[in-house]
Amino acid sequence: MTEDYLVKATAEHGMFRAYAVNATELVREAQKIHGTWSAASAALGRTLVGTLLLATSGLQGDQAGLTVKIQGNGPVGFIVADGTANGTVKGYVHNPHVNLPLNSNGKIDVAGAVGKQGTLSVTKMNVADKTPYTGEVNLVSGELGDDFTYYLAQSEQIPSAVGLSVFVNPDDSIEVAGGFLVQVLPGASDEQIADLEKSIQGLPLVSEMLRDGKTPEDILKKIFAGQELKILEKMPVKYQCDCSKDRFSQALASVKKEDLEEMINQDHGAQAVCQFCGKKYEFSEDELRQMLKDKD
Ligand SMILES: [Zn+2]
Repeated sequence: MTEDYLVKATAEHGMFRAYAVNATELVREAQKIHGTWSAASAALGRTLVGTLLLATSGLQGDQAGLTVKIQGNGPVGFIVADGTANGTVKGYVHNPHVNLPLNSNGKIDVAGAVGKQGTLSVTKMNVADKTPYTGEVNLVSGELGDDFTYYLAQSEQIPSAVGLSVFVNPDDSIEVAGGFLVQVLPGASDEQIADLEKSIQGLPLVSEMLRDGKTPEDILKKIFAGQELKILEKMPVKYQCDCSKDRFSQALASVKKEDLEEMINQDHGAQAVCQFCGKKYEFSEDELRQMLKDKD
């Protein structure tokens, strides 16, 4: 078992902010929960890693979490992921059973699964006043790394480079998953930016580095080879769902009276299934009757 964690760093004396993560175990867990096939595993896995990187880098003090929604025109349909600044993430894909032939590079065809047209949106929730803020961009490639990069540049005006990578074994299990995010801060020179671009272009895939046993720190060292790099923080990351029966009863209590009556008289109860973790919550006839009573 590998250890999932994310590192936060600065490089070249504060000209760049950098993040790298090994998210193997959490993408394995997502694959098991949802039973995803290879192309859907890679698409969901990359979305989970991208969401983690956004949430741990981009949330302000009063923002608890963010939701990433990818709505492409490919066979997986939409993908949703929630991430928090504390390094937890959860997500699901509309159609988990998607396998596609490998693309021309011999890799899983994530763009074919997600679709090359559509949108990527990010909603941040402000805790204090509960106001959501959503930024949305069109998909530029469907491979997702480029799409997260484009979102950061367009919607948040942060020039960045994002790498997301998932290696799926022939039996659909996940061998490794991870990624990096580098943000250019004001003050970085054109030369420093050009050097960084060159370094990232020559970088092996994150999945290759992880399969070689490299750590998130090693990945950043490789990106900033020979440059000053300061690791600021190392934090565990994990797949975590915060659903509860209470949350589902609030949702149930808001359905129409007739529908509640139907659940009582015809189904003699109700079952709710969490889309993020698959947990089932049972509601008895009595519990439903109480909800009906509370409506009056
Ligand atoms: Zn759940």
